Amino acid sequence: KTFYTVVNWFSRRSSSWVQLAGHEGNFKTSKSGIIQKKFSEIENCCLEKLMEDVLKPYVPTYHGVVEEGTQKYIQMEDLLTGLEGPSIMDCKIGVRTYLEDELTKARQNPTLRKDMYQKMVKIDPEAPTEEEHAQGAITKPRYMQWRETISSTATLGFRIEGITMDQRNVYKDFKKTKTKEQIIETFLNFTRSQRDVLSAYLRRMENMREALAQSPFFKVHEFIGSSLLFIHDKTGKANIWMIDFGKTVPVPDGKTLKHDIPWEEGNREDGYLLGLGNLIETVQEALKK
Ligand code: ATP
Ligand code: MG
Ligand code: MG
Repeated sequence: KTFYTVVNWFSRRSSSWVQLAGHEGNFKTSKSGIIQKKFSEIENCCLEKLMEDVLKPYVPTYHGVVEEGTQKYIQMEDLLTGLEGPSIMDCKIGVRTYLEDELTKARQNPTLRKDMYQKMVKIDPEAPTEEEHAQGAITKPRYMQWRETISSTATLGFRIEGITMDQRNVYKDFKKTKTKEQIIETFLNFTRSQRDVLSAYLRRMENMREALAQSPFFKVHEFIGSSLLFIHDKTGKANIWMIDFGKTVPVPDGKTLKHDIPWEEGNREDGYLLGLGNLIETVQEALKK
């Protein structure tokens, strides 16, 4: 396996905070137990509504907005508080990680992109068509859609974004982790095959699935680029949280989403429940090994 290692963690007295995705500048630790994330209207709106929803127990507690100088921050519960040497995994949920609007916009102005062609070739030299090879460039919508097929996003409805273990190494090289076998293996490594941890994760996801079925918020929001954060620590505590609502947007008036049917352009379905179902199966399979 070719993991590359990026050590990327903040020390703060006895506790230290680890960030697995996103720009480093997007987060700050504040008073103990609370972190600050750069303000986004969309995310702030979601957190406010989620505090009144049956999903509340699955979401970091929201603590309002603060302004520091010209920058606004959303304050929320630091999910690592009180844990000893936590191991963390960020799984991005859904069958696509861009909004339909982003695809539409990219199509309106389909300029040829050399940088995207180069990224594509680096990951899979066979991926470009003959024409694209000749041009040495691809369009952005083409790149966006292709990118979802190299990981498990398009097929399983989730992908692993990053893992950190024992507050040391951060592994982010899961771009091509795609098959169920690879993912089961990754879960076994991440949990060091501890059955009680895997069982706790399984129960949490089953309860989450029931809450999602009851949630008014879930029915009317398209969840794009949102993650499940898996966290366990040395004492055997294990929990999973729904995070990152920067692209969780309300669907137009009167519409609702099923979340468990395939995406076809225009239906705005995100496949959130397909992803959760596959994650549940993955952990069930891991428990059999
Ligand atoms: P991106 O959109 O690129 O995924 P982002 O800037 O929207 O990034 P998030 O995905 O919300 O940021 O969070 C990035 C990482 O920060 C997560 O993977 C997780 O490691 C950590 N993190 C986020 N929220 C919390 C929290 N409430 N408590 C502890 N850690 C958190
Ligand atoms: Mg994220
Ligand atoms: Mg985000």
